[in-house]
Amino acid sequence: MGKCNLCPRHCGVDRSVRTGYCGMGEQPRVARAALHFWEEPCISGVRGSGTVFFSGCTLGCVYCQNYDISHLGHGKDITVDRLADIFRMLEDQGAHNINLVTGTPFVPAILNALEKYRPALPIVWNSGGYETVETLRLLKGAVDVYLPDCKHVSPRIAQLCAGAADYFDVAAQAIQEMCAQTGAPVYDGEGMLQKGTIVRHLILPGCTGDSRRVLDFVAECLPKGTPVSLMRQYTPSPFCQIKGLDRRITDQEYRRVLDHFEALGLTGYTQEKESAESSYTPPFDLTGV
Ligand code: SF4
Repeated sequence: MGKCNLCPRHCGVDRSVRTGYCGMGEQPRVARAALHFWEEPCISGVRGSGTVFFSGCTLGCVYCQNYDISHLGHGKDITVDRLADIFRMLEDQGAHNINLVTGTPFVPAILNALEKYRPALPIVWNSGGYETVETLRLLKGAVDVYLPDCKHVSPRIAQLCAGAADYFDVAAQAIQEMCAQTGAPVYDGEGMLQKGTIVRHLILPGCTGDSRRVLDFVAECLPKGTPVSLMRQYTPSPFCQIKGLDRRITDQEYRRVLDHFEALGLTGYTQEKESAESSYTPPFDLTGV
């Protein structure tokens, strides 16, 4: 692999010898591979999204709900052949798509696995949006659907939450590259997304001004009609010590951001309070690995 510069951290380390910011070695590490029913309806459908949760993370947000795998690196190292088998297994289980969650540190292995076995399903790249354009270009043609977060505009908030003051500058370019690669959304007869980019945004408590700036970016800089998934399920993490992030968002905060979403004429997905309250983190117990 040589020196790793797969993500904007640009650690430049040889991961066969030592790890960088993401904490991952060369081999893909996976914590769960199973049908998942908690994505947007056009991704999960009725049969579920064939989701592969990779361990490690290039962002490491302090409030992450997948702490065990993103921060602690729980999971199992697997070969490229096993990863290709997992794709086949999820397809055989009836998945609507193959959903690769935080796969950035493993791009070369994922591309090799897709060469060994390419399921006849859309390939979904599900990431925090903190990607280099160079790495995204490696994925061009292999990925059909991008599902990036656009988390913050403010460098101060991004630094506080993920030690990444450059988050927005990087993510803005990355998401524009994703939209350019996929083009406008294409759905099949059942309403399942076959091609396209959905931008996700999780509203943080006390940060509605920043959320509105995220929506401004979508309206001003991304192709018209790019769907946005506006999420209100922020849940305080027991591992997060930052004052202000220790509560859920209020109805008024959600309304303020939703009003802006509607005023900008954005389309996509908004979340009912009930579904936000029952948001679900799967057990990272090596199912399917
Ligand atoms: S993928 Fe990991 S090792 Fe490579 S640059 Fe990013 S954080 Fe560093």
